[in-house]
Amino acid sequence: MQIVSSIATMQRLARQWQRAGKRIGFVPTMGYLHAGHLSLVREAHKRVGKSGRVVVSIYVNPTQFGPKEDFSKYPRDLKRDLKLCRAAGVNVVFTPGDKEMYSGMGVSPVPPTNFTTYVVEESLSRTMEGASRPTHFRGVTTIVAKLFNVVLPDVAVFGAKDWQQAAIIKRMVADLNFLVKIVVAPTLREPDGLAMSSRNKYLVSDLRKQATVLWRAIQTAQAAVKQKKTVPVAKLKADLKKLIESEPDARLDYVDFFDPDTLQPVSKVTRGTQMATAVFVGRTRLIDNARMAG
Ligand code: AMP
Repeated sequence: MQIVSSIATMQRLARQWQRAGKRIGFVPTMGYLHAGHLSLVREAHKRVGKSGRVVVSIYVNPTQFGPKEDFSKYPRDLKRDLKLCRAAGVNVVFTPGDKEMYSGMGVSPVPPTNFTTYVVEESLSRTMEGASRPTHFRGVTTIVAKLFNVVLPDVAVFGAKDWQQAAIIKRMVADLNFLVKIVVAPTLREPDGLAMSSRNKYLVSDLRKQATVLWRAIQTAQAAVKQKKTVPVAKLKADLKKLIESEPDARLDYVDFFDPDTLQPVSKVTRGTQMATAVFVGRTRLIDNARMAG
Protein backbone atom coordinates (compact mmCIF):
# COMPACT_ATOMS: atom_id res chain seq x y z
CA MET A 1 0.00 0.00 0.00
CA GLN A 2 1.35 3.42 -0.94
CA ILE A 3 0.76 6.51 1.17
CA VAL A 4 0.73 9.65 -0.96
CA SER A 5 0.38 13.21 0.25
CA SER A 6 1.38 15.11 -2.90
CA ILE A 7 -1.21 15.98 -5.56
CA ALA A 8 1.34 15.70 -8.36
CA THR A 9 2.41 12.21 -7.26
CA MET A 10 -1.19 11.04 -6.99
CA GLN A 11 -2.02 12.39 -10.45
CA ARG A 12 1.08 10.75 -11.93
CA LEU A 13 0.11 7.39 -10.41
CA ALA A 14 -3.48 7.71 -11.63
CA ARG A 15 -2.30 8.51 -15.16
CA GLN A 16 0.02 5.50 -15.13
CA TRP A 17 -2.86 3.24 -14.12
CA GLN A 18 -5.07 4.75 -16.80
CA ARG A 19 -2.41 4.10 -19.48
CA ALA A 20 -2.08 0.49 -18.25
CA GLY A 21 -5.86 0.06 -18.61
CA LYS A 22 -6.49 -0.33 -14.89
CA ARG A 23 -9.80 0.97 -13.56
CA ILE A 24 -9.62 3.30 -10.56
CA GLY A 25 -12.07 3.05 -7.65
CA PHE A 26 -12.19 5.89 -5.13
CA VAL A 27 -13.55 6.28 -1.59
CA PRO A 28 -13.25 9.82 -0.19
CA THR A 29 -13.31 9.99 3.64
CA MET A 30 -12.41 12.23 6.54
CA GLY A 31 -10.67 9.33 8.29
CA TYR A 32 -11.22 7.82 11.73
CA LEU A 33 -12.40 4.87 9.72
CA HIS A 34 -15.08 2.40 10.76
CA ALA A 35 -16.76 -0.64 9.23
CA GLY A 36 -19.06 1.64 7.18
CA HIS A 37 -16.06 3.16 5.37
CA LEU A 38 -14.56 -0.30 4.85
CA SER A 39 -17.79 -1.52 3.24
CA LEU A 40 -17.36 1.28 0.67
CA VAL A 41 -13.81 0.05 0.02
CA ARG A 42 -15.15 -3.48 -0.62
CA GLU A 43 -17.72 -2.03 -3.02
CA ALA A 44 -14.97 -0.09 -4.84
CA HIS A 45 -12.88 -3.26 -5.21
CA LYS A 46 -15.92 -5.08 -6.60
CA ARG A 47 -16.58 -2.32 -9.13
CA VAL A 48 -13.04 -2.10 -10.53
CA GLY A 49 -12.28 -5.84 -10.50
CA LYS A 50 -9.08 -7.73 -9.73
CA SER A 51 -6.86 -5.67 -12.01
CA GLY A 52 -8.30 -2.37 -10.76
CA ARG A 53 -6.85 -0.02 -8.16
CA VAL A 54 -8.59 1.41 -5.08
CA VAL A 55 -7.70 4.79 -3.58
CA VAL A 56 -8.97 6.01 -0.20
CA SER A 57 -8.51 9.67 0.61
CA ILE A 58 -8.24 10.74 4.23
CA TYR A 59 -8.68 14.47 4.57
CA VAL A 60 -10.61 16.52 7.12
CA ASN A 61 -11.71 19.25 4.76
CA PRO A 62 -11.78 22.64 6.54
CA THR A 63 -14.07 24.34 4.00
CA GLN A 64 -17.02 22.08 4.79
CA PHE A 65 -17.04 23.01 8.49
CA GLY A 66 -18.77 26.10 9.82
CA PRO A 67 -16.87 28.46 12.15
CA LYS A 68 -18.62 27.04 15.23
CA GLU A 69 -18.35 23.40 14.20
CA ASP A 70 -16.01 20.61 15.29
CA PHE A 71 -13.22 20.94 12.67
CA SER A 72 -10.34 21.14 15.14
CA LYS A 73 -11.84 18.46 17.40
CA TYR A 74 -12.83 16.07 14.61
CA PRO A 75 -11.41 12.64 15.58
CA ARG A 76 -8.17 11.71 13.83
CA ASP A 77 -6.06 8.53 14.04
CA LEU A 78 -4.02 8.13 10.87
CA LYS A 79 -1.96 5.20 12.17
CA ARG A 80 -5.05 3.14 12.86
CA ASP A 81 -6.66 4.21 9.57
CA LEU A 82 -3.61 3.07 7.60
CA LYS A 83 -3.71 -0.32 9.31
CA LEU A 84 -7.39 -0.74 8.41
CA CYS A 85 -6.77 0.33 4.81
CA ARG A 86 -3.86 -2.09 4.46
CA ALA A 87 -6.02 -4.95 5.78
CA ALA A 88 -8.80 -3.97 3.34
CA GLY A 89 -6.44 -4.22 0.35
CA VAL A 90 -6.41 -0.48 -0.44
CA ASN A 91 -3.73 0.33 -3.04
CA VAL A 92 -3.16 4.00 -2.23
CA VAL A 93 -4.12 6.17 0.73
CA PHE A 94 -4.13 9.81 -0.34
CA THR A 95 -3.55 12.07 2.70
CA PRO A 96 -2.90 15.62 1.55
CA GLY A 97 -2.28 18.48 3.97
CA ASP A 98 -4.25 21.75 4.00
CA LYS A 99 -1.42 23.57 2.23
CA GLU A 100 -1.44 21.03 -0.57
CA MET A 101 -5.21 21.21 -1.03
CA TYR A 102 -5.77 24.93 -0.51
CA SER A 103 -2.53 26.66 -1.53
CA GLY A 104 -1.33 28.04 1.72
CA MET A 105 -4.58 28.04 3.65
CA GLY A 106 -4.17 27.82 7.42
CA VAL A 107 -5.34 24.90 9.51
CA SER A 108 -8.60 26.42 10.74
CA PRO A 109 -11.63 26.89 8.48
CA VAL A 110 -10.96 30.56 7.82
CA PRO A 111 -11.36 32.03 4.33
CA PRO A 112 -8.30 30.92 2.38
CA THR A 113 -6.10 33.56 0.80
CA ASN A 114 -4.71 31.96 -2.34
CA PHE A 115 -7.70 29.80 -3.05
CA THR A 116 -10.74 31.51 -4.56
CA THR A 117 -12.56 29.02 -6.79
CA TYR A 118 -15.49 27.03 -5.41
CA VAL A 119 -17.98 24.57 -6.89
CA VAL A 120 -21.53 25.39 -5.78
CA GLU A 121 -24.64 23.30 -6.38
CA GLU A 122 -27.54 25.73 -6.22
CA SER A 123 -30.70 23.69 -5.74
CA LEU A 124 -30.46 20.36 -3.90
CA SER A 125 -28.07 21.86 -1.38
CA ARG A 126 -30.50 24.46 -0.04
CA THR A 127 -32.58 22.18 2.21
CA MET A 128 -31.86 20.00 5.26
CA GLU A 129 -28.06 19.90 5.86
CA GLY A 130 -27.67 22.92 3.59
CA ALA A 131 -30.24 24.93 5.57
CA SER A 132 -28.63 24.04 8.92
CA ARG A 133 -25.02 24.34 7.68
CA PRO A 134 -25.02 27.12 5.04
CA THR A 135 -21.50 26.69 3.59
CA HIS A 136 -21.22 22.94 4.15
CA PHE A 137 -22.10 21.65 0.68
CA ARG A 138 -20.01 24.31 -1.04
CA GLY A 139 -17.05 22.81 0.83
CA VAL A 140 -18.11 19.26 -0.03
CA THR A 141 -18.63 19.83 -3.78
CA THR A 142 -15.40 21.82 -4.00
CA ILE A 143 -13.24 19.20 -2.28
CA VAL A 144 -14.86 16.28 -4.13
CA ALA A 145 -14.36 18.03 -7.49
CA LYS A 146 -10.71 18.63 -6.57
CA LEU A 147 -10.24 15.03 -5.44
CA PHE A 148 -11.78 13.75 -8.68
CA ASN A 149 -9.24 15.84 -10.60
CA VAL A 150 -6.42 14.38 -8.51
CA VAL A 151 -7.42 10.70 -8.27
CA LEU A 152 -9.04 10.47 -11.75
CA PRO A 153 -11.46 7.72 -10.66
CA ASP A 154 -13.68 5.64 -12.94
CA VAL A 155 -15.95 4.85 -9.98
CA ALA A 156 -16.40 6.72 -6.69
CA VAL A 157 -18.32 5.18 -3.79
CA PHE A 158 -20.34 7.26 -1.33
CA GLY A 159 -22.48 6.18 1.64
CA ALA A 160 -26.28 6.35 1.74
CA LYS A 161 -25.74 7.58 5.32
CA ASP A 162 -25.23 11.05 3.78
CA TRP A 163 -28.13 10.80 1.34
CA GLN A 164 -28.34 14.47 0.43
CA GLN A 165 -24.58 14.64 -0.09
CA ALA A 166 -24.69 11.69 -2.51
CA ALA A 167 -27.58 13.30 -4.44
CA ILE A 168 -25.64 16.57 -4.74
CA ILE A 169 -22.46 14.80 -5.90
CA LYS A 170 -24.46 12.94 -8.55
CA ARG A 171 -25.92 16.25 -9.74
CA MET A 172 -22.48 17.89 -9.81
CA VAL A 173 -21.04 15.00 -11.84
CA ALA A 174 -23.93 15.22 -14.33
CA ASP A 175 -23.87 19.03 -14.55
CA LEU A 176 -20.09 19.36 -14.93
CA ASN A 177 -19.52 16.20 -17.04
CA PHE A 178 -17.09 14.45 -14.75
CA LEU A 179 -16.13 11.06 -16.22
CA VAL A 180 -16.87 9.12 -13.06
CA LYS A 181 -19.63 6.74 -12.04
CA ILE A 182 -21.12 7.48 -8.62
CA VAL A 183 -22.14 4.45 -6.56
CA VAL A 184 -24.16 4.82 -3.37
CA ALA A 185 -23.66 2.00 -0.84
CA PRO A 186 -25.92 1.13 2.12
CA THR A 187 -25.52 2.47 5.67
CA LEU A 188 -23.80 0.15 8.15
CA ARG A 189 -25.23 0.19 11.66
CA GLU A 190 -24.22 -0.88 15.13
CA PRO A 191 -26.19 -3.86 16.52
CA ASP A 192 -28.61 -1.45 18.27
CA GLY A 193 -29.32 0.45 15.03
CA LEU A 194 -27.10 3.51 15.52
CA ALA A 195 -25.57 4.40 12.14
CA MET A 196 -21.79 4.03 12.26
CA SER A 197 -20.08 7.42 12.27
CA SER A 198 -16.70 8.84 13.25
CA ARG A 199 -18.61 11.31 15.45
CA ASN A 200 -20.02 8.45 17.57
CA LYS A 201 -16.71 8.73 19.44
CA TYR A 202 -18.12 11.88 21.07
CA LEU A 203 -21.03 9.93 22.59
CA VAL A 204 -19.78 9.26 26.11
CA SER A 205 -21.67 7.46 28.89
CA ASP A 206 -25.45 7.84 28.69
CA LEU A 207 -25.42 9.78 25.38
CA ARG A 208 -24.52 6.65 23.42
CA LYS A 209 -27.78 4.98 24.48
CA GLN A 210 -29.84 8.13 23.86
CA ALA A 211 -28.39 8.30 20.33
CA THR A 212 -30.35 5.21 19.30
CA VAL A 213 -33.39 7.52 19.18
CA LEU A 214 -32.57 8.41 15.53
CA TRP A 215 -32.98 4.76 14.56
CA ARG A 216 -36.10 4.44 16.73
CA ALA A 217 -37.56 7.49 14.95
CA ILE A 218 -36.89 5.88 11.56
CA GLN A 219 -38.52 2.64 12.70
CA THR A 220 -41.52 4.52 14.08
CA ALA A 221 -42.02 6.31 10.74
CA GLN A 222 -41.65 3.04 8.83
CA ALA A 223 -44.20 1.32 11.07
CA ALA A 224 -46.70 4.17 10.56
CA VAL A 225 -46.34 3.96 6.77
CA LYS A 226 -46.67 0.18 6.84
CA GLN A 227 -49.84 0.38 8.90
CA LYS A 228 -51.60 3.40 7.36
CA LYS A 229 -50.10 3.40 3.81
CA THR A 230 -50.36 7.21 3.61
CA VAL A 231 -49.41 9.46 6.53
CA PRO A 232 -49.77 13.29 6.56
CA VAL A 233 -46.30 14.75 6.98
CA ALA A 234 -47.11 17.38 9.64
CA LYS A 235 -48.54 14.89 12.12
CA LEU A 236 -45.70 12.43 11.60
CA LYS A 237 -43.07 15.16 12.06
CA ALA A 238 -44.75 16.30 15.30
CA ASP A 239 -44.87 12.72 16.65
CA LEU A 240 -41.22 12.13 15.79
CA LYS A 241 -40.12 15.40 17.42
CA LYS A 242 -41.90 14.31 20.60
CA LEU A 243 -40.27 10.88 20.48
CA ILE A 244 -36.78 12.28 19.85
CA GLU A 245 -37.02 14.96 22.51
CA SER A 246 -38.26 12.47 25.10
CA GLU A 247 -34.54 11.70 25.47
CA PRO A 248 -33.18 14.19 28.02
CA ASP A 249 -30.17 15.29 25.94
CA ALA A 250 -31.65 15.06 22.44
CA ARG A 251 -32.80 18.11 20.45
CA LEU A 252 -34.28 17.80 16.98
CA ASP A 253 -32.64 19.92 14.26
CA TYR A 254 -34.85 18.68 11.42
CA VAL A 255 -36.81 15.69 10.24
CA ASP A 256 -37.83 15.80 6.58
CA PHE A 257 -39.69 13.57 4.14
CA PHE A 258 -38.87 13.90 0.44
CA ASP A 259 -38.50 12.27 -2.96
CA PRO A 260 -35.25 10.23 -2.86
CA ASP A 261 -34.01 11.51 -6.27
CA THR A 262 -35.20 15.11 -6.50
CA LEU A 263 -35.12 15.76 -2.71
CA GLN A 264 -38.44 17.62 -3.17
CA PRO A 265 -40.45 17.58 0.09
CA VAL A 266 -43.69 15.56 0.10
CA SER A 267 -46.91 16.38 1.93
CA LYS A 268 -47.93 12.74 2.33
CA VAL A 269 -45.51 10.05 3.39
CA THR A 270 -45.90 6.75 1.54
CA ARG A 271 -43.84 3.75 0.50
CA GLY A 272 -40.70 4.97 -1.29
CA THR A 273 -40.53 8.34 0.49
CA GLN A 274 -37.09 9.13 1.91
CA MET A 275 -36.78 10.37 5.50
CA ALA A 276 -33.77 12.26 6.86
CA THR A 277 -33.15 13.59 10.33
CA ALA A 278 -30.50 15.55 12.20
CA VAL A 279 -30.44 15.48 15.99
CA PHE A 280 -28.17 17.02 18.58
CA VAL A 281 -27.38 14.43 21.26
CA GLY A 282 -25.64 16.51 23.88
CA ARG A 283 -23.30 18.65 21.76
CA THR A 284 -22.89 16.04 19.04
CA ARG A 285 -24.91 16.50 15.88
CA LEU A 286 -25.91 13.16 14.32
CA ILE A 287 -27.69 12.50 11.03
CA ASP A 288 -29.49 9.47 9.67
CA ASN A 289 -31.95 8.62 6.92
CA ALA A 290 -33.90 5.75 5.40
CA ARG A 291 -36.40 4.81 2.71
CA MET A 292 -39.97 4.16 3.85
CA ALA A 293 -40.86 0.56 3.08
CA GLY A 294 -44.45 -0.41 2.20
P1 AMP B 1 -16.92 10.68 6.29
O1 AMP B 1 -15.57 10.13 6.65
O2 AMP B 1 -17.86 10.73 7.46
O3 AMP B 1 -16.86 11.92 5.47
O4 AMP B 1 -17.58 9.59 5.33
C1 AMP B 1 -16.92 9.14 4.17
C2 AMP B 1 -17.88 8.30 3.37
O5 AMP B 1 -18.32 7.19 4.16
C3 AMP B 1 -19.15 9.06 2.95
O6 AMP B 1 -19.49 8.70 1.63
C4 AMP B 1 -20.16 8.57 3.95
O7 AMP B 1 -21.49 8.63 3.47
C5 AMP B 1 -19.73 7.14 4.15
N1 AMP B 1 -20.23 6.61 5.42
C6 AMP B 1 -20.21 7.23 6.63
N2 AMP B 1 -20.82 6.47 7.56
C7 AMP B 1 -21.23 5.34 6.93
C8 AMP B 1 -21.93 4.16 7.34
N3 AMP B 1 -22.34 3.99 8.60
N4 AMP B 1 -22.20 3.21 6.42
C9 AMP B 1 -21.79 3.37 5.13
N5 AMP B 1 -21.13 4.45 4.68
C10 AMP B 1 -20.85 5.42 5.56
